[in-house]
This record gives sequence, structure tokens and C-alpha cells, in this order.
Amino acid sequence: MYVLGLDVGSASSKVVILDDDKNIVSSSVVQVGTGSSGPSRALNEALGKVNLTLDDMKKIVATGYGRYSFERADKQISEISCHAKGIYHLVPTARTIIDIGGQDAKAIRLDDNGMVSQFFMNDKCAAGTGRFLDVMSRVLEVPLDQMGKVHFQAKEWAQVSSTCTVFAESEVISQLSKGLPRESIVAGVHQSVASKACSLAYRIGVKNDVVMCGGVAQNAGVVDAIEKELQQSITVAPHPQITGALGAALMAYEELKKQNK
Ligand code: ADP
Repeated sequence: MYVLGLDVGSASSKVVILDDDKNIVSSSVVQVGTGSSGPSRALNEALGKVNLTLDDMKKIVATGYGRYSFERADKQISEISCHAKGIYHLVPTARTIIDIGGQDAKAIRLDDNGMVSQFFMNDKCAAGTGRFLDVMSRVLEVPLDQMGKVHFQAKEWAQVSSTCTVFAESEVISQLSKGLPRESIVAGVHQSVASKACSLAYRIGVKNDVVMCGGVAQNAGVVDAIEKELQQSITVAPHPQITGALGAALMAYEELKKQNK
């Protein structure tokens, strides 16, 4: 018996397939380019790895920004609930979740049973999200997957004070032209994202353990800047980009068990 979780995000589509024992048998992450083929490419990749088809999936739950776009889903569930489910499954001591994705950032509080008791979200502005980092990576000519490494080369962190992505882009270009070290600007960019994420976390109150997920959790520079801002260490979820899809798959699993009772 297999169940499937699909997370249709703004930047990437993610799939997790679970077996009868809730083991992850396959997963995929596909960056969304222009066009809408992200979900189907992610599905084909995850199913293809284990030689299964959609018909083998006994239940499918879709989550994420584009969750209503996939017609074969049995149910759609919000990404807040799915991230909470996925994180609590992986890290049962988690009480505060910081999720930074492609176009939003969220802070979620879990109670002792793993239920969502409060959350705050920024989905109004690109600053503080993966989109901001994508823009800065291009301006700074540092590939996204190198931003973390470059961050740790900084002796000092530049101040990126603009609260808007467009203004921050001009600010960074001006800092580069003044000869500020690239690595200091990278660290300043990370600090800017961290302070926005932490302001969401402060609103729900920071309670340990703090666990980070979302694609941006793969950027060790942002994780470092969040730890400095909170003055404590945090846990990065294992496979942080697929926690929403994992939560959706776990929801599908529970739905199936309920139905078969
Ligand atoms: P969404 O769920 O909104 O589609 P994701 O959780 O997939 O978003 O996060 C996308 C963001 O993750 C990108 O905007 C990018 O900033 C960041 N990201 C993706 N891959 C990497 C990587 N290898 N290293 C650092 N950051 C990454």
C-alpha cells in the first residue's frame, strides 16, 4: 500500500511516497520554471524511481500554494498543517517551526501533541523569502547553493537595511560598487532574511525546540544568521524542502486508515 503527498510551491514542486510503515520509499523536488509542468514532472520523477504509477497510490493529498491545480488529489490541506505534521513526525520535540520558502515565510507554534496552536505568515512581500535570496544571488553573482559557504568567509556583516527587495537590490549594487567585500554583503543579505523570519517567530513566542524547514533551510548562512539573532542553536529538519510533502503524505496515510477502519 502506498500513499502520496504533493506540495505545489511557488518555487518548486515536491513529492513524497510512503509505504505501509510510513517509510519514505521515494521523493522528488523539481524547480518550477515558467509554465505549469512542475507538479507532473515531480510526480513522474518520484513514481519513476520506484516503478509505480498514480494508480498504485491509495490516497493522495495535495498541499502548497498550487494545491488545487492537481485534479487527482483526494484532498487538499493547507501547507501550515502539512509542515506541522511533517516536522513533528521528524522532530517530535519541535515547538517552533520557521519555514522559509520561495515566496513566503512562516512561524508556526506546535503544542505538545504536534497540533498547530498559532502561526504568523509573510506572503505579502518578497523580502525575507527565498525570492529575495534568488534576486541577491543573481546580483552578487554567487550561486544559490554557494551562498552558505561564502557567508562563513565574511569577517564583518554588511548592513542591508532596505525593507523592500527592489530597494535592497539597488543598495547591494551600490555596496558592491563601493568595494565592500562580496562575502560581507552575502552575510548582510542573510541577516536581513533572518531578522524578518525571527520577527514572525517573536510574535508567536520562541519555544524550544526551534526547527527550520523550507528550501531556504538549505542555506547554512541563513541558518547561522537566525541562530545569531535568536542567540541559540536551531535544528534544520532532515530534507527540509520536502517536509510539507511528507506532511501531506502522512495526512493521506491517516485518511486511508480512517477509511479502512
Ligand atoms: P516553495 O515551497 O515556495 O516552492 P521552497 O521551499 O522550495 O519554496 O524554497 C525555495 C527557495 O529555497 C528558493 O527560492 C531558494 O532561495 C532556496 N533554495 C533552493 N535550493 C537551494 C539550495 N540548494 N541552496 C540554498 N537555497 C536553496
